[in-house]
Amino acid sequence: MRILVTGGAGFIGSHLCERLLNEGNEVICLDNFFTGRKANISHLFDHGGFEMIRHDVTQPILLEVDQIYNLACPASPVHYQYNPVKTVKTNVLGMINMLGMAKRVRARILQASTSEVYGDPVEHPQTESYNGNVNPIGLRSCYDEGKRVAETLMMDYHRQSGVDTRIVRIFNTYGERMLENDGRVVSNFIVQALRGKPLTIYGDGSQTRSFCYVSDLVEGFIRLMNAEGDDVHMPVNIGNPGEFTMNELAAEVGTATGRPVDIEYLPLPQDDPKQRKPNIDRAKALLGWEPTVPLRDGLLKTVQYFERTLTF
Ligand code: NAD
Ligand code: UDP
Repeated sequence: MRILVTGGAGFIGSHLCERLLNEGNEVICLDNFFTGRKANISHLFDHGGFEMIRHDVTQPILLEVDQIYNLACPASPVHYQYNPVKTVKTNVLGMINMLGMAKRVRARILQASTSEVYGDPVEHPQTESYNGNVNPIGLRSCYDEGKRVAETLMMDYHRQSGVDTRIVRIFNTYGERMLENDGRVVSNFIVQALRGKPLTIYGDGSQTRSFCYVSDLVEGFIRLMNAEGDDVHMPVNIGNPGEFTMNELAAEVGTATGRPVDIEYLPLPQDDPKQRKPNIDRAKALLGWEPTVPLRDGLLKTVQYFERTLTF
């Protein structure tokens, strides 16, 4: 198949491009390099099935493909809040452009949605039927509400025009190729520990997240994209149900890096969700999917990556 991956030069997108190429597909990677970089995909340039297009998804583009994975959107709060209006445009105009393409060429399209659609969740763990608790006017809204509108567009193009859609709600994912200045907690803690700096915990560190290793996520993406049936258009949570406080994560990073860690407590950002953990019953039943990489193993691999690539 010929497969388009928007945001393909980013952290998750680069792993997805690699996996799709290894399975014998042609891959078109489209990216504006806002948080993506050529280094993430330069090892794929010699592959005959790989093409790279520098393009912004907020602008229309004509391509002929069989499948579209729409990942284009900065994912770290630091980056999506840098230009919040652009973040909304990427989520809304980008989604409309990709859905227009899917409709025109009858491609199947998968949207990289997020657990952020649940906001600061009152239901715990989060099931797909939970409608969420999102602040529409806060600093995270450009991302959370942008992704919610993107889901709305996916469902409306499906119902109105019969577009063949898939929605993954991704929970916090980590692994090799996160940027050292990405700003998300796993890469921040690892980079800080390796540089002998204190780990910055926002708030008192009691808030929880559930961390999925990137290869597990990519497996879930591919299974959902290729799943058939009446029930495949509704959102699916993909994440690791292992739940950790940020204090526990700091200790795990200390173990994985083998360094003594100091902690610096900083103010909690606005609207920071207090807890997050996926219910993955639907992914198990629909896709036979569940995560296979425990946090300790995934952290070790990520630490090894940063040890190889970090400039100290
Ligand atoms: P990332 O920032 O590494 O990747 C995003 C990619 O999209 C980058 O390569 C960036 O340059 C590109 N991009 C951004 N705006 C664009 C635009 N307007 N046009 C073209 N390209 C654009 O982040 P990631 O962690 O790889 O996330 C990938 C997707 O998964 C995002 O849609 C994100 O919202 C979603 N997601 C990720 C997580 C996670 O924990 N990593 C969790 C939930 C959802
Ligand atoms: N966080 C932290 N220190 C950091 C970066 C993040 O304590 O250096 C916290 C952040 O406040 C949040 C959690 O870690 O409670 C996860 O943050 P991240 O930005 O990785 O993802 P998200 O909040 O989008 O789930």
